[in-house]
Amino acid sequence: MHHDATATVVHGPKRPGTPALEARHLTKHFPVHQLTPTRGGRQVVHAVEDISLALPEATVTAVVGESGSGKSTLARLLTQLIAPTSGQLLLDGVPVGSSARARRAYTRQVHLVLQDPFSSLNSVHRVRHHLERPLKLHRRPGSRDELDARVRALLERVSLSPAERYVDAFPHELSGGQRQRVAIARGLAVEPRVLLADEPVSMLDVSIRLGVLNLLDELRERERLAILYVTHDIASARYLADTVVVMYAGQVVESGPAATITDAPAHPYTQLLLSAAPDPARTERPVLRGRGSPPSLVDPPSGCRFHPRCPFAMAICKERTPPALPVAAEQVAACWLHTKDTEDANDAETAPRPTRPS
Ligand code: SF4
Repeated sequence: MHHDATATVVHGPKRPGTPALEARHLTKHFPVHQLTPTRGGRQVVHAVEDISLALPEATVTAVVGESGSGKSTLARLLTQLIAPTSGQLLLDGVPVGSSARARRAYTRQVHLVLQDPFSSLNSVHRVRHHLERPLKLHRRPGSRDELDARVRALLERVSLSPAERYVDAFPHELSGGQRQRVAIARGLAVEPRVLLADEPVSMLDVSIRLGVLNLLDELRERERLAILYVTHDIASARYLADTVVVMYAGQVVESGPAATITDAPAHPYTQLLLSAAPDPARTERPVLRGRGSPPSLVDPPSGCRFHPRCPFAMAICKERTPPALPVAAEQVAACWLHTKDTEDANDAETAPRPTRPS
């Protein structure tokens, strides 16, 4: 049976209960400002199309895709830094209001950790300043001693210990990993329920990436945060995440438990991502490597947006958008190869079948 033909994938929480944050049918189109208007009038970038996902507490959900897949736009929609063209956000099952008060309350609950720890901290201020500021803005500051104790506790929570060593340091005196930890501590100051981490380790040395990923894992476990981990690196998503959501050209193409998605990817694009991921144990040549690049989001391909790059493309793929189809337990893929409806894939018999990794 087909799911909703246009919507992408909603995963229920791993535990019973309402997700901390939920997005329903989020869509974002950016207008293109052109010097010379073209035929057909105003154009738009289809950055995010009809994406639904749920972030349960104490879980990490990874959103994986290449540059231009829309994953960072999705993270910004979830922070309300940009407004959606359509769609809805729910915190603890309650639709998020648009008043200034509702937005302030939302900002306390949902915090964005940016990719670049070098630019996210003001270089003229010490670590103490960066952590005291949100404490003063969002909580009763208390006495000087109480404030000091809270700053020290924040540093300990991100494993910058002993806190005395870091509290009076300037950002340039810290390593990239330590700066990212301070940026995360600053987010924790307002006691958020949800952490949105947009490529939080991609600008760090390989040697210190694992430490920051382990910190996110600890925060998920210890503080029961709902974490969205945005990355181009599917191997790190497997390491950290409970659930993986794969995006291509503004749409979700596959989602499911992280181990299932990485061990048995059902969508050819997920297979491409995995084939491009470093794997010293692999000896065979990746099947899909080098097959073109992501399409323009101003004029995305018809039907399945991946069809110009897909070695399994059939006639139907160019004409009809594939629905989200169940593949295995909790795994769904938007790909016509997985339809059980022979009418829908009426011309599938001539197509080659994908190879699922064993
Ligand atoms: Fe898209 Fe068709 Fe390839 Fe599936 S087989 S990914 S629907 S082009």
